Amino acid sequence: MSILKPRILFVTSEVYPLIKTGGLADVSCALPNALQQLDVDIRILLPGYPSVLKALPLVEVHQQITVFPHLEPINILASVMPSGKTPIYLIDCPALYQREGNPYQDQHGKDWPDNALRFGLLSKVAALFGQGQFLFKPEIIHCNDWQSGLAPTYLHYAKQPHAHTIASIHNIAYQGIFTPDIMPLLQLPPESFGIHGLEYYGSVSFLKASLFYADRITTVSPTYAKDIQTPAYSYGLHGLLAERYHDLSGILNGIDTDIWNPTTDKYIFTQYDTNNLAGKAENTKQLRQKLGLEPSHYKPLLGMISRLTYQKGLDLLIPIIPEIVNKGAQLAILGSGDKELETELQKLAKMMPGQISITLGYDEALAHQIEAGADIFLMPSLFEPCGLNQMYSMHYGTIPIVRRTGGLADTVTDATSENINQQTATGFVFEQEDSRHLLQCVERAMTAFRDKTTWQKLQRTGMIKDFSWRGSAQQYLDLYQQLIK
Ligand code: ADP
Repeated sequence: MSILKPRILFVTSEVYPLIKTGGLADVSCALPNALQQLDVDIRILLPGYPSVLKALPLVEVHQQITVFPHLEPINILASVMPSGKTPIYLIDCPALYQREGNPYQDQHGKDWPDNALRFGLLSKVAALFGQGQFLFKPEIIHCNDWQSGLAPTYLHYAKQPHAHTIASIHNIAYQGIFTPDIMPLLQLPPESFGIHGLEYYGSVSFLKASLFYADRITTVSPTYAKDIQTPAYSYGLHGLLAERYHDLSGILNGIDTDIWNPTTDKYIFTQYDTNNLAGKAENTKQLRQKLGLEPSHYKPLLGMISRLTYQKGLDLLIPIIPEIVNKGAQLAILGSGDKELETELQKLAKMMPGQISITLGYDEALAHQIEAGADIFLMPSLFEPCGLNQMYSMHYGTIPIVRRTGGLADTVTDATSENINQQTATGFVFEQEDSRHLLQCVERAMTAFRDKTTWQKLQRTGMIKDFSWRGSAQQYLDLYQQLIK
């Protein structure tokens, strides 16, 4: 056991810039980096997706390992993250990972039919690391979301001494639920299939397995840690989480200010800082031009970058978009997801050309340009474990409109007159899950936008706030040290 330099295996299904569908990728890049700076020996374990194998120089460190008897033997490859800092291990198993596109779904948005095996393998390999079977012998297996959720189960039933486990919940809505016939395929002990185990209403739940068997549970904001102990937000897991209350903590995500920083961002049109907000106005002008929006000096430009799903509050937003535009705002939306939502948004853009821009798909450069160019950022989520875009927005002087839930409640301070006077206000917050309250909040923001002194106060307060990983990485380190002791 080493107290000074804990050895951690950080197990994840996506990591920026190698493969990304959402916030988990950003966290999987930034948190290990921040922990390395605290002298933690942290290494990442990721499936060997083809795009990742292509992008990295690789060394084979372990060969021809039979993990499941019915599956071809795998190799374990090693490399270093493009940042040059964090070591990364990749599972080379072409039968499961050699396919282009999304880690979870095919090009039609359908889950890969063998996801149980694909992520069962990730979990099992993590557990083998935890049993000291490879050269790197971690003291803690840090699992993230359902995709590595079975690792604590394998370790719980392992005979020999093994690593401790942490399960981090980035979004409880995704649980990895499969029919019980995967139990023998994944070599799961039959006795684990019960209410006190990984069984969930007659199925196998990878996420429940991790929450039941892990030594500690974390989630990505203090408010979400409370939210998920209630039926409204837990997707059925509040009972278990309330029972494990003493082992559960909410540690707020940070942002990677090497990547999201208006003073250095290479994607944006002009770099700027608090002393040069004219640079931000230049980004707004260029963004309008790029997206075919009418030029304007007085209309606020509302941005949104999002997976297009129920969670993100699009049902609240879509019905009031015409009214928002009629009140004198413009919209720039970037996202992909639910086909019906995509179609509705496209219809609106056609109805109001020059005022609404919808870009469907995934576009890293445009995401940065919207953060820099928008005046206001929309995030009316119904639930939000942490949310990163509201923090990116504040850092870029783009004022967020958020619903008071999860990490949004923990990071955005409402622009009441008292908060504005005390220079603590950073955005506009509404409570109720309905379009009328969202519209009122947008109106409040649009009124404030016309008062440049107030507006710049809000921008500067957000831009200088510390959203870095430093404090949160220290909290993870404290947790690691408690466990190792
Ligand atoms: P979630 O993880 O629920 O999707 P977060 O706010 O935590 O939401 O993180 C979303 C991340 O994904 C952000 O970095 C955001 O910029 C990025 N993102 C989401 N959709 C797109 C898109 N269509 N194009 C580019 N980046 C996107």
